Amino acid sequence: MTGGETLVIDGCAIAVVDAQGTEYQRGHIVVDGDRIRSVAGGPAPRDSASARYIDAHGCLATPGLVNTHHHLYQCATRGHAQQSILFDWLKTLYPIWAGIDEDVVGAAARAGLASLALSGCTLSTDHHYVFPRGVGDLLGATVAAAAEIGLRFHPTRGSMDLGESSGGLPPDAVVEDLDTALAATADAIDRFHDPSPGARVRVAVAPCSPFSASGGLMRAAAELARDRGVRLHTHLAETVEEEEYCRELFGLDPVDYMAELGWLGRDVWMAHCVWLGEDAIRRFAETGTGVAHCPSSNARLGAGIAPVRQLLDAGVPVGLGVDGAASNEAGELVMELRQALLMARVRPVDADGPGASETAAAGGGHAKGPAGPADLTAREALKLATIGGAQCLGWETELGSLEAGKLADLALWRLDGIGHTDIADPVAALVLGPRPPLSLLLVGGRPIVEDAELRTADVHEVSHSVRAAARRLSPEGTPAATPLTMKVP
Ligand SMILES: [Zn+2]
Repeated sequence: MTGGETLVIDGCAIAVVDAQGTEYQRGHIVVDGDRIRSVAGGPAPRDSASARYIDAHGCLATPGLVNTHHHLYQCATRGHAQQSILFDWLKTLYPIWAGIDEDVVGAAARAGLASLALSGCTLSTDHHYVFPRGVGDLLGATVAAAAEIGLRFHPTRGSMDLGESSGGLPPDAVVEDLDTALAATADAIDRFHDPSPGARVRVAVAPCSPFSASGGLMRAAAELARDRGVRLHTHLAETVEEEEYCRELFGLDPVDYMAELGWLGRDVWMAHCVWLGEDAIRRFAETGTGVAHCPSSNARLGAGIAPVRQLLDAGVPVGLGVDGAASNEAGELVMELRQALLMARVRPVDADGPGASETAAAGGGHAKGPAGPADLTAREALKLATIGGAQCLGWETELGSLEAGKLADLALWRLDGIGHTDIADPVAALVLGPRPPLSLLLVGGRPIVEDAELRTADVHEVSHSVRAAARRLSPEGTPAATPLTMKVP
């Protein structure tokens, strides 16, 4: 299908994900070119000779999923540091990442974006912050990969200026000085940012984290972003160790430190935010600062789990992210809905970060046990992955729900197979069941996945390329987590 044609998806259940929580047990969606013309219950009128009709019985239509945090280059460095916490994991991986170049990043980005497409994602961000010198156009490689795979893309130009010699974690070879980083960030906005309605690519500004970017870089990056009208992104409060590090270095907890640098606001979303106390949550809510919740990655690194219930109750915009594939080897966005729901329910109720722990200690309180099975519903998980993510990235008026006039970015999930067919509630089947095959994935009305197959690239060639890239970066392969001892009888 090309622009201007009409597509009618008929006979499916529909989760609109609008403010009213509208759902249809059986309905239809009409798409004109790159926009949704109408969504309604009941069968579609067969009144157009030129429209393409799709029989969608047995399927659920949802808005396309929005991925709010990723590091696509990591798709070439999966399976390392399997038992490490964040800081040790970073120290293991930085020397490997120092070997990336334009070809590696391009191959990894194609693989990561293909996995996202096959798991229902229509808009993804990317946070690229490792820039060894003289290795080509890394950001350009990710933008080209997104154009090829066909996803809407919101890459960020990341940066780090605190190498080992300045007390940071990364080797000096992968960091830039402040002026170089800012000039390259401004250049990325000039080259790729498109503010027009229905854009395919928008750019955000994203120094890596408070422990790898100086306060000067953080502050100047925020000024640049606001001057150019683009959004701001970084990692924050991912681990207990980071909290201690910030207190030691700056005498402030991470959120107070970011507030001082001008980093709270409606134009900012931050990854993880696991260790937020009540005060920090209130400040996020008051300022409209968004959170990219990455449950699989947080669990993989044993970092803890973000207080999603408390964030939502306070009115904070929350989206979902797969995070980089080196800390979430699956990299499939629909699996994060299930993970977010499960983790919210087992999260200890008074583990709301340092502030709450202190409150509990002061009052003689102790862990009261897990939050419980009502803590996050399947529909709330779907909202996080759609309109919640759209709010974080600033696209909520254009996508994130299936409403007339919005962009035709949607996922049609097949739920009549063995994994789902006996579950009467289609939203529960999507969130609680195994990953369903995609009957159709549209980005701006264009089919990217059909009948569970990627239509825009050859997945065998994509996986061959990323395997070759991974071998170039790590010729000995991924070290096993524990020595294997094999006994031959
Ligand atoms: Zn990350």
